[in-house]
Amino acid sequence: MKTRTVILDNGHGGIINGVYQTHGKRSPDFGKGIIYEGDFNRDIVNRVSKLLKSADVPFYLLVPELADISLNERCKRVNGLYAKDKSVYLVSIHSNAGGGTGFEGYTTKGQTASDGICSEFLKDIHSGFPKVKIRVDRTDNDDDKEVDYQILKYTSCPATLLELLFMDNIEDYNLLLDDKFRDKISITLAKTIQRLYLL
Ligand SMILES: [Zn+2]
Repeated sequence: MKTRTVILDNGHGGIINGVYQTHGKRSPDFGKGIIYEGDFNRDIVNRVSKLLKSADVPFYLLVPELADISLNERCKRVNGLYAKDKSVYLVSIHSNAGGGTGFEGYTTKGQTASDGICSEFLKDIHSGFPKVKIRVDRTDNDDDKEVDYQILKYTSCPATLLELLFMDNIEDYNLLLDDKFRDKISITLAKTIQRLYLL
């Protein structure tokens, strides 16, 4: 395998002057406040960025803005970076909802370079969080779930989308609000990114 450089995507919008920029995409308030997914995604991407900077691992930040940049524009940015740097792959960070628990990794349908990359992330998440469920799809002999999300399908480089726990599950919600969990998942993701870069 060759050197890979990550493009980090923080799904959805952030919070500007106290106003969350995305409709929906938030947790219930189980007693510790509401988790706004885009705000959480940004926090994780920012933590990972800091770790990569201090390890001298190059990366691209797809959405430095707090505004909710459209999926169209996000794909355009990814493809612009890929046109200039063929070593890139995309990791889109999200948190799940809809009744479930644990981690999920997605790639587009069929076997592509994205599958191997997604597996590397899931492998490290599994060893970092052995007690947390990883929801997998073994029908095609790898662990990722295959869905043609726009950010995966209309980006020309390898791309994976990671769902970090479920905002609407109370145990997951408590973890998502835990600073130690946020640090640990960020360290885990940075470790995979560093290994893919050094290959
Ligand atoms: Zn999301």
